[in-house]
Amino acid sequence: MSAFVPPFCPIQLCTAHSGGVPLRYYRDGTYARAADGRRVQRFRCRSCGRRFSSQSFRLDYRQQKPRINAQLLGCFVSKVTHRQTARILRIDRKTVQRRLRCFGPSLRGWHAHFLARARQCGGLSGAFSFDELETFEHDRRLQPVTVPVMIHRATRFVVHLETADLPARGGLSAMDTARKHALEKRHGRRKSGSTRAVEACILALKNVHAPRELLQLVMDRKSSYPPIVRRHFGNRFAALIRESSTTPRNPLNPLFPINHTLAMLRDQVSRLVRRSWAASKKQTELVHHLWIFVAWRNYIRPMFNRTPMISSAAALGLTNRRYRPAELLRWKWPDLMPASSI
Ligand SMILES: [Zn+2]
Repeated sequence: MSAFVPPFCPIQLCTAHSGGVPLRYYRDGTYARAADGRRVQRFRCRSCGRRFSSQSFRLDYRQQKPRINAQLLGCFVSKVTHRQTARILRIDRKTVQRRLRCFGPSLRGWHAHFLARARQCGGLSGAFSFDELETFEHDRRLQPVTVPVMIHRATRFVVHLETADLPARGGLSAMDTARKHALEKRHGRRKSGSTRAVEACILALKNVHAPRELLQLVMDRKSSYPPIVRRHFGNRFAALIRESSTTPRNPLNPLFPINHTLAMLRDQVSRLVRRSWAASKKQTELVHHLWIFVAWRNYIRPMFNRTPMISSAAALGLTNRRYRPAELLRWKWPDLMPASSI
């Protein structure tokens, strides 16, 4: 049994949870964890009188087969469909879906923690790049989706990404037009959320950008981008490079780092692969999957193949090493563990 010290009461309504009251507790028996029989210490909070254990703080709390989580994360970033993942790990497909919904928000919380830490330490400096990837939910022509992504160019660290609806495509067949009208009757007209999503990415960069440094940003020539950048950065930029999206996509292209990141997303996230039957059915599931990719790209995967010991986050000085998948999936981030426990 580990000497786990609870940092606060995990019961959300308790004053010892986040109400500023220090946790007072006593040890109150043990129990055997169902998944592997390991003995777990129980505690009782003196403020609310409720019992909890170290498991209450864990991401795999009440999960069956918690040991598959690290492998499952590997499948989520290896272009493996949900069905195939279920076959490989001998679990139900619904379990795969439930873990996706569990990992996504938690890993987003993990990333947010490190961005907050970067902000406290003076912010990120260097050049950044930004572009949009297009995918869809359920139907490529009727329900396209845009995924704007902001990266730090030198380290390929993903600062932020968003998803948003795009309107149905033009030039539809009679059958698709009828289906479009049926969809509009149910959900209303599908409008472009691109500007809002792009703005969220620029804002996320502003929040973490070193405040005393001028912005260096590389993006393509879409006319809607510069006004959004100016709205948030004013004239505080050293370079705003706008490269044509038709320039050959080779390493000499200023957009190469972001193009490469988007290509990696398409290669590793099963639902983004072109002409795939693994495409997203719902945008919410896509969001969870994307945040799993971000955590993998930034904190677990080596920055480049030639730098096997360093992750993108470590290269930026946000972490002191490359993490293992099990470490990112240990605690419920960010709600139930203090920052000091990372
Ligand atoms: Zn309590």
